[in-house]
Amino acid sequence: MDLFEYQARDIFAKHGVPVLAGEVIETPEAAREAAERLGGRAVVKAQVKTGGRGKAGGVKLAADPDDAVVKAGQILGMDIKGHTVHKVMLAQTADIAEEYYVSFLLDRTNRTFLAMASVEGGMEIEEVAATKPEALAKVPVDANEGVTEAKAREIVKAARFPEEVAEQVAQTLVTLWDVFVKEDATLVEVNPLVKTGDGKIIALDGKVTLDANADFRHADHAELEDKAAADPLEAAAKAKDLNYVKLDGEVGIIGNGAGLVMSTLDVVAYAGEAHGGVKPANFLDIGGGASAEVMANGLEIILGDPAVKSVFVNVFGGITACDAVANGIVQALELLQSKGEEVTKPLVVRLDGNNAEEGRRILTEANHPLVQQVDTMDGAAERAAELAAAAV
Ligand code: GDP
Ligand code: MN
Repeated sequence: MDLFEYQARDIFAKHGVPVLAGEVIETPEAAREAAERLGGRAVVKAQVKTGGRGKAGGVKLAADPDDAVVKAGQILGMDIKGHTVHKVMLAQTADIAEEYYVSFLLDRTNRTFLAMASVEGGMEIEEVAATKPEALAKVPVDANEGVTEAKAREIVKAARFPEEVAEQVAQTLVTLWDVFVKEDATLVEVNPLVKTGDGKIIALDGKVTLDANADFRHADHAELEDKAAADPLEAAAKAKDLNYVKLDGEVGIIGNGAGLVMSTLDVVAYAGEAHGGVKPANFLDIGGGASAEVMANGLEIILGDPAVKSVFVNVFGGITACDAVANGIVQALELLQSKGEEVTKPLVVRLDGNNAEEGRRILTEANHPLVQQVDTMDGAAERAAELAAAAV
C-alpha cells in the first residue's frame, strides 16, 4: 500500500525523522485557519499518490492565510497524472539551501535491501539515474545488520554529502531505516531531503510503501487505507476475505488456485476475440477449500458487477474434490436465492480433476436453468465468451 505524503510525514515524525509541521484540509476555506496555525506563510501541497506534483503545479507557496485559500482553491480538484486532488497539505515553509535524495527499498533482483542517495535531489530521481548515474550512490543493506551508524556513514560517503551535513544525514538515515523496519515498508523515499539556510536537515517530502503481507503486525495501518479510492466491488470482496481484482471485461471468472485463474483469464481473453472482443471481468481465486459459503460470497460479488454478462466457474479438484465444489455451487445458488438475490446471468461450469465425474453428476441432477457444464477449459471459455457476447 502506497501512502499519501502526509501519512508518510506522520510516520516519519513518530520515528524521529525531522519534518515540518503540517495540516491536511479538503476545502479552500479551511486553508485560512490552518495557515494561521502554521504561522501565516505556508506551502500548499496536493496529496496524490504520484510524483512530480511540483512540476504539475501541485506545490505552491502561500504568502499569508488569504493567499493559502487561493492556492488551496487552485490545487484542490486539480488532475495530476490521472489523480484528482481531494486533499491538500499545508506545511510550514522551509528555507531551502540544498536538495538531496535518500531512499531504502527492497531490491528483489539481488535479494537484499538497497540504500540510494544523491546530493542531486529535488528533481525526479529516474532522471538523475538516467543522465548522471555516477551521482546516484547505491549501497546494499544486509537485512540482518540493517543500517548501523557505520553503514549510514558509508552511504553518506558514497553519495559524497558535504562534510557539514554528514553527521545529520547519517542520523536521519538511521531513523529512516527504523521507519523501514518497524513499519514493514518496502520503500521509504525522501526527495527532497533538504539542508536549510541555517544548516538543518529536514525531510520535505516522503514516499512510503507498506508491505500488506505484514498488516497482521500493524493494527494501526488499516486506517491508512484510502477507502474513497477503493473500487466498491474490491472493497466488498476484501471484507469477505476474497482474492478479487476487478478488471474491465464482461465474463466473470471464479477459479480455485491463482495459477489456474490466471490461465483462465488468458483463455477467456483469447476466446473473446472471436466474440466481439469480450474480456474477463475480474480475477477471483476462491482457493483450495471452496466451501458453499466461499462460493456464494464469490458469486455474489461477481453477479453484483453490472458489467458481468456471463460467469465462468473453472475448478480443478485437488484436496477439495469436485463433488464438494459442485455441492458448493448448488448450495451457493440456493443461498443467493434465499437472500432474495435473483441470479439472472448464465454460469458455465467446468469441473476437472479429483472426483470430476461425481461433481458433474451433482450439477446435472440439480438441473439449475442457468448452469451449463462444459468439460474442457477451452470449450468452457468459448461458451462463456459466446454467452457474454450475446448479452452485451
Ligand atoms: P513532488 O514534486 O511530488 O516530488 O513534491 P515535493 O514535495 O518534492 O515538492 C517539489 C518541490 O517543491 C521541492 O523539490 C521543493 O523545491 C519545493 N518545495 C516543497 N516544499 C517547500 C517548502 O516548504 N519551501 C520551499 N521553498 N520549497 C518547497
Ligand atoms: Mn518529491
